[in-house]
Amino acid sequence: MGKHLLKDPGLWRPAALINGEWVDQTPHGTYELRNPANGDLLARLPRCQEADTTRSIEAADVAFRTWRRTTARQRADILRRWYELMVEHKADLATIITLEEGKPLSEALGEIDYAASFVRWFSEEATRVRGDVIPASRPTQHILSLKQPVGVCAAITPWNFPAAMITRKAAPALAAGCSMVVKPASQTPMTAFALGELALRAGVPAGVFNVISGNDTRAIGGVLTSHTLVRKLTFTGSTEVGRVLLRQSADTIKKCSMELGGNAPCIVFDDADIDLVVDGVMAAKYRNTGQSCIAANRVFVQDGIHDRLVQRLAERSRALKVGNGLEQGVEIGPMIDEAAVAKIEAQVANALVGGAQVIVGGRRHALGGAFYEPTVIEGVTVDMTIAQEETFGPVLPLIRFRTDEEVVEMANQSEFGLAAYLFSRDANRIWRTAERLESGMVGVNTGLISTEVAPFGGIKQSGLGREGSHLGMDEYLEIKYLCWDGLTPQ
Ligand code: NAP
Repeated sequence: MGKHLLKDPGLWRPAALINGEWVDQTPHGTYELRNPANGDLLARLPRCQEADTTRSIEAADVAFRTWRRTTARQRADILRRWYELMVEHKADLATIITLEEGKPLSEALGEIDYAASFVRWFSEEATRVRGDVIPASRPTQHILSLKQPVGVCAAITPWNFPAAMITRKAAPALAAGCSMVVKPASQTPMTAFALGELALRAGVPAGVFNVISGNDTRAIGGVLTSHTLVRKLTFTGSTEVGRVLLRQSADTIKKCSMELGGNAPCIVFDDADIDLVVDGVMAAKYRNTGQSCIAANRVFVQDGIHDRLVQRLAERSRALKVGNGLEQGVEIGPMIDEAAVAKIEAQVANALVGGAQVIVGGRRHALGGAFYEPTVIEGVTVDMTIAQEETFGPVLPLIRFRTDEEVVEMANQSEFGLAAYLFSRDANRIWRTAERLESGMVGVNTGLISTEVAPFGGIKQSGLGREGSHLGMDEYLEIKYLCWDGLTPQ
C-alpha cells in the first residue's frame, strides 16, 4: 500500500470519482493494483462497468449545462488553482506515479511538471477563444462564427504517462467549457484519482471531471463510445485499440482525437556533434525505460560516425542504474509487466537470428521480475521485428546507412508517423530531411521535444488531431456560424 509514503494521505484515493463523490463499491467487486517493481499489492479498486460509466456520463452532462455558462475567466481561475495544487503536491503525485508505473522518481517529478504545464497553459488559453466576424455577401447580412464547447468528452488514457496524458486532454476540455469522463489505464488509476482529488479542491464543480476505474475495459469503452451524450472521444494508446475505438464511435459520429503508437526513426548524420547525439539518443531512448510513444525506436547511423557512436552509446548504456524507481539514483525502472518484457525478448531474439549483435545487455536483468537490461544492438536491419514494431523497452537498435536518400526512404517505411529525430550540423540537410520525413514531429539535434507550447501529434497510423499549443483547444470546440439577415443596410 502506498498511502503511508505520502505527505498528504488524502491523495491516496482507491475509489472512482463520479459526480464529485468517491465510489469505492460496485456490484462487480474489485481488482488488485500491484507495484511493477516488486509485485506488492498497492490497492483494491472498484470494477466499474456499464452502469457506473453511464452514471458518470449522465453526471457529466448535467454538470456541462452549468459549466459551459461560466465565464472563461472563472474557468481559467479554477484551472490555475488546479495547476498550483499540482505543483504544491508534486512530490506526492510523483511518488504515486513511481509506485504504480515504475518510472524513476526523478522522471516522475518531471512528468508532474509536464502534466501541470498543460493545466497552466490552458488556464491561460481559456480566455483567448475567439470567433470571427466575416464580411457578408449581402448588405442586409452579418456573418459571425462562434466557438462553443463540444459537450461531454470521454478520455481513455495509457499507463506510460499517467498524469500528463490526462491533463493534456482535461485541461483544454475544461478550459473550453466541456465536462469529462476519464478512463485511465487499469494499471495506473491512482494518479488519475489524485488528480481528481486536486481538481475538487481547486473548485472544479461536481460532475465536470469524473474518473472511473476498472479492468473490464471493453465494457467501459463500449459505453463511452456508444453513448449519445458523449460528443467527443479523446484517446491515447496503441494504434490497435485506437482503430477499435474509432470503429465503435462511428455509429454516433463522435468527434475523435487519437494519439496512437509510434516507431520513431532517429537519424545521425556523419557531420553531427557527437556529444549532442549521445545525450539526445540516451534521452529519446531510455526515458521511462523506453516506454514512450516518441522513444527513438530505430537509430540510423551513417557510416563515418557509426563505430565511434556505438562505443559512446555502449558506455553510457552500461552505466545506467537499474532498480526500483523509488531508490536514489535509479535511471531505469521495471517494465510495466511481464508481457512487455516478453515482447522485447522476442524482438531481440529475432534480431539476433537475423545477424544483429548485442553490444550491451540483451537479457532480463538479474533483479528479476519485470526488469530488463539496458541493451544496445548493432547490425539491425529494417526487416527485423525490432525495426518494424514499437519496441517500448530499454533496447537501442542501431541501423547503419550510407546516403541521405537511402535513410529517408528507410525511415519512412513504417505505418507510424509520430516523432522523428535527426542530428546534423548542415542546415540544408536538416531542412531537406525534416521536410521529407513522414512524421507529425521532428526533433533536430535534440531528443526532448515534448512541451505544452507545441502541437503534439502524429500522421499516418499514429493518430488524428493535436494536443497542447494554441491548437489543443480546437479539439474541444465546435464552430457555429450565424447568418444574420434582415438588418438595415448602412
Ligand atoms: P493500450 O493497450 O492501447 O491502452 C490504452 C488505454 O486504452 C487503456 O486505458 C486501456 O485500458 C484502454 N483500452 C484497451 N483496450 C480497450 C478497448 N477495447 N476498449 C476501450 N478501452 C481500451 O495502450 P497502452 O499499452 O496503455 O499504452 C501504450 C501505447 O500508447 C503505445 O502504443 C504508445 O505508443 C501509445 N502512446 C501514445 C501517445 C501519443 O501521444 N501518441 C502517448 C503515450 C502512449 P486498460 O488499461 O484497462 O487495458
